[in-house]
Amino acid sequence: MVNILEMLHAMDKVAPGVASRNTLLYGVEVKFYSNRLHLTPEMETEVENLFACGDGAGVTRGLIQASASGLVAARAILGRRSAEAS
Ligand SMILES: Cc1cc2nc3c(=O)[nH]c(=O)nc-3n(C[C@H](O)[C@H](O)[C@H](O)COP(=O)(O)OP(=O)(O)OC[C@H]3O[C@@H](n4cnc5c(N)ncnc54)[C@H](O)[C@@H]3O)c2cc1C
Repeated sequence: MVNILEMLHAMDKVAPGVASRNTLLYGVEVKFYSNRLHLTPEMETEVENLFACGDGAGVTRGLIQASASGLVAARAILGRRSAEAS
């Protein structure tokens, strides 16, 4: 913490405002990218009808990709429900 504060004050000399009391610092960022499930291309897990998507499934690392993987799973689920209904 002391190192970070010292760095901010040093940076403030080069770029005034960096050490402002309004400067927001991110805390420790924990990401679980290494936890990767076995998924079909439709995002189905090894458990039938259980789908996983997004960062928790280990297949994405960003907002757009996580959203897209959710769409893939949702379309697959809707496709199955439509098939069941007909
Ligand atoms: C500090 C930081 C900065 C980032 N900046 C960017 C960026 O600039 N651009 C970018 O594209 N990506 C960024 N990311 C990555 C991005 O946020 C993730 O890739 C994305 O949010 C993953 O979406 P997700 O839906 O898979 O998971 P999440 O957004 O993590 O959603 C999971 C949800 O499940 C909920 N949940 C967890 N456990 C349970 C439970 N047991 N029961 C019910 N609900 C539960 C959580 O509360 C959460 O709402 C950043 C990530 C971090 C941590």
